[in-house]
Amino acid sequence: MSLLRVAGLVARHGLLTAVRGVSLAVDEGECVALIGANGAGKSTLLRTIAGAHPAAEGTVVFDGADITALPAHRRVGRGIALVPEGRRLFAGLTVEENLLVAGRRGRPGQWRLDTVLDAFDLLKPLLHRRAADLSGGEQQATSIGRALMTNPRLLLIDEVSLGLSPIAVDTVYASLSRVLASGTTVVLVEQDLGRALSVSDRVICLLEGAVALESASGAVTRDQVTEAYFGLR
Ligand code: ATP
Repeated sequence: MSLLRVAGLVARHGLLTAVRGVSLAVDEGECVALIGANGAGKSTLLRTIAGAHPAAEGTVVFDGADITALPAHRRVGRGIALVPEGRRLFAGLTVEENLLVAGRRGRPGQWRLDTVLDAFDLLKPLLHRRAADLSGGEQQATSIGRALMTNPRLLLIDEVSLGLSPIAVDTVYASLSRVLASGTTVVLVEQDLGRALSVSDRVICLLEGAVALESASGAVTRDQVTEAYFGLR
């Protein structure tokens, strides 16, 4: 049984339909990369799965239960965590405080302050630094670490590398590969196609709110991705 099953999902911003009947499934332990051009609906899809945006039609089934109508905080309780675009840390709190606050909202499990710091070792010397004073990569590490502190069964990460320096991208992905090795199921949005393909088991490309391509990441060609990305053909 899939951990996540989305069927016929439609999500709107006012009159604009951002997600147009998306169906997809994610198995336990999988890493799925969501790709697609700006405005393709990737963020809206992730946010709708997390309960941060309402579904207009369709269903979100998690671990066999229909959670389409559940508010976001109840989905956290079931094991869904979202790392939002732009990171949204508590700017005035320290790294440690950002992590511990999240830990109180979550479920018990393997992710605690010490295990998160083992995976995101760049944060160890920064525990008492205010989030506002971190670099982009450090903020992204804190944001992913904060989501992990809730012990998600499904971790949704919007725009892993957007706006980060190449070195910061390497560092964040090194930590992310430790998270994946722990067996956590991840769906991530990534603009960098090479990164998306190398980190994921499967890739899903959205085009104007619909799935244009779904493939094992190792089997897909650049031409197939380009076609799906731009809607050629
Ligand atoms: P990006 O990479 O630019 O974030 P995306 O693939 O994540 O793109 P979304 O952010 O989900 O796409 O946007 C899908 C569509 O919905 C776009 O046309 C966008 O302009 C529109 N949209 C997104 N958020 C809002 C909002 N808060 N209000 C109105 N329209 C929105």
